[in-house]
Amino acid sequence: MYADVCIDVSIEKLDKPFSYRIPERLSGTICVGSRVRIPFGAGNTEKKGYVTALRDEVAYDPDKVKDILGLVEGSMGAEDRSFEIAGFIKNTYGGTLSQALKAVIPAKAKAKPVEIKTLVRKMDKEQLLALAADANRKKQTGKENLIRALIENERIPSTWISGKLRVSGSTVNNLIKNGAAYYETSSEYRKPTAAEIERKNVSLNDEQARIVDAIDADIEEGGAGTFLIHGVTGSGKTEVYLRLAEKCVLLGRQVIFLIPEIALTYQTLARFYSKFGDRVSVFNSTMSVSERYDQCERAKNGDIDIIIGPRSALFTPFPNIGLIIMDEEHESSYKSESTPKYHAREVAKKLCEMTGATFVMGSATPSIESYSAAINGEITLFKMNERATGTGLPQTKVVDLRAELSDGNRSMFSRALKTCMDEALEKGEQIMLFLNRRGFSGQVSCRECGKVIMCPHCEVPMSLHTGSKLVCHYCGEITEKPALCPSCGSKYLAAIKAGTEQVEERVLKMYPGVRVLRMDKDTTAAKGSYDKILSSFSNGEAQILIGTQMIVKGHDFPNVTVVGILAADLSLGVPDYRASERTFQLLAQACGRAGRGDKPGISIIQTYQPEHYAVKCAAAQDYEAFYEEEIAYREAAGYPPCMHMLCIQLFGPDQKKTANLAHELSDVIKSKGRFRLLGPAPANIMKVKDYYRFVLYAKATDLDTLFEIRSISEEYFNEADMGQMFVQFDQDPMNQI
Ligand code: ADP
Ligand code: ZN
Ligand code: ZN
Repeated sequence: MYADVCIDVSIEKLDKPFSYRIPERLSGTICVGSRVRIPFGAGNTEKKGYVTALRDEVAYDPDKVKDILGLVEGSMGAEDRSFEIAGFIKNTYGGTLSQALKAVIPAKAKAKPVEIKTLVRKMDKEQLLALAADANRKKQTGKENLIRALIENERIPSTWISGKLRVSGSTVNNLIKNGAAYYETSSEYRKPTAAEIERKNVSLNDEQARIVDAIDADIEEGGAGTFLIHGVTGSGKTEVYLRLAEKCVLLGRQVIFLIPEIALTYQTLARFYSKFGDRVSVFNSTMSVSERYDQCERAKNGDIDIIIGPRSALFTPFPNIGLIIMDEEHESSYKSESTPKYHAREVAKKLCEMTGATFVMGSATPSIESYSAAINGEITLFKMNERATGTGLPQTKVVDLRAELSDGNRSMFSRALKTCMDEALEKGEQIMLFLNRRGFSGQVSCRECGKVIMCPHCEVPMSLHTGSKLVCHYCGEITEKPALCPSCGSKYLAAIKAGTEQVEERVLKMYPGVRVLRMDKDTTAAKGSYDKILSSFSNGEAQILIGTQMIVKGHDFPNVTVVGILAADLSLGVPDYRASERTFQLLAQACGRAGRGDKPGISIIQTYQPEHYAVKCAAAQDYEAFYEEEIAYREAAGYPPCMHMLCIQLFGPDQKKTANLAHELSDVIKSKGRFRLLGPAPANIMKVKDYYRFVLYAKATDLDTLFEIRSISEEYFNEADMGQMFVQFDQDPMNQI
């Protein structure tokens, strides 16, 4: 028998399994997941590794295969925990163990740690005074200044020498040669920082106190309980998180605070930084590999107690996790988009079971999954129905755009919204305008024949950049914009403007001189631009902020009194069973942005479908009513959480072969049992990067049936002639690919 062993997935070069023989004496004790000791490399250095598969034979000369030395004994460290989590992810979501390990173990930095140099005093003060007098006589001002600084400070950071003291390197070297001082170098981990804000010291209201007490009791006894806080925006959830984190840290245990990538902004971070200072750190996508790795090292060494970050922050190697908080738990970014397509909610729950940590989720618009689990009594539900500051929820008004049109108003602003905007500007208050359109901004089409220029490799339109380059956002293909329409030869080829850009133009025409900020994919491409726009809006540098869904997440702008949602139903037409849920969440969250300070606010929802329950319930800020309608629909149509779903996605360069593979797989699955299968069908976007995509859906009331279907598929693919084709599994799919 042989075993595939992964030596160290955190180092790229070693991130593949190596073959080892299982010696007679160990046979029967080694299984997939065992930690083993193995000889590695020419010198046969002993290393530790993980068994990722067992095999009957190896592909090359068996005489060259080395023996496994033995099993690794000892305690469950953070590393073993990662391995167990990887196993859970592989078993739940499919894919290989190696892929799962890669998701949970941080990549090791190639960069060196940051070096800090400090000049340290060596001579005593008398000697230094003599040196200073000598330098003074010789008019060596730089040298004299440095010596005097050394007399006053035993240690001087090198940044000080070149900065404040303005002393050259050769002067320092000269002093070192004289034996007056020496350099000490140490390395430091990179520390991300956030702007400090003034901390408001609030005393909890009764509702908050009740919730904190109940959850705190669970943390103290290591109860591994799961809690859902359903609290309207501004009800004080973040304040509750802060208290819980504080209590957990006092118990000597660590906290993982998950927030969606998009909400990783200065406001929430600043509140944590001002409470916990250096003991908190952050993970985000703009950080380098080295920066992320350093945060893991700091966590391992006990230098920090709290990590804030998106789903990958779950894998921070804390020695003793006591609390995992998942804010905005309904957010789709908690699910991984690449294999293994794990959901942070389920992984967090597993992690809490393993470590005895408490799991707290919070949202103003909980996911249908979590809320139904709460209704069914699987998790504990808390409600916060009032805003903590005492201001009422904003007034909302639904405007029927069809009626506007029939009354002769062709503008994108209804009369009601226009009136509110006029008043707010008059009073010096702020306005947010929200357009929930992703769409293909920048796509180039012919005004004469309607032809849209498509990417030659993908089934998507290309976008115009810097006036003449066409770029495909799926595969990166870049071409020159043709002068004439490739279809009819017309010279009227033009780019379609992003919705937000059009809105901006209209607003500037309506209100000349008013300062406007726009926040969308284009204006936030550069690092840091996201925070910059938000903070300048927060500082009152503009009166109107226009944006896509990015602007609705968790920001607190007390001076915003008007929120305009320009076309509420754009997100209802998406082919996804979650379209209504998403629309409701977006609208409810957007409405919650108005009137967060002491002034009352109003939200205006413009729509062509005012009778749709997602629009009606969002306008009424009535989550329960929405939940009732939505769960009835999921029940009737057989969608999660009422039924589980597995999406099997097949990819291949040859359309016919890929379709055939999908059909054959469907036949094989059907021959093995009475399973509910849908498809195969071409995916939403059928071709990306020259690969055709087909999908098959399986539905079942229990997960085990879906696991069975997945293993039937995996077995089939192991035998099939796959060529360049490959497969991905998606449990309870978020969207049609
Ligand atoms: P959420 O996270 O639910 O949106 P926050 O915790 O951000 O709510 O609270 C909203 C606002 O109310 C913040 O400005 C916060 O400082 C304030 N706040 C929270 N709790 C209290 C309280 N008990 N008393 C007074 N103000 C509070
Ligand atoms: Zn044309
Ligand atoms: Zn492309």
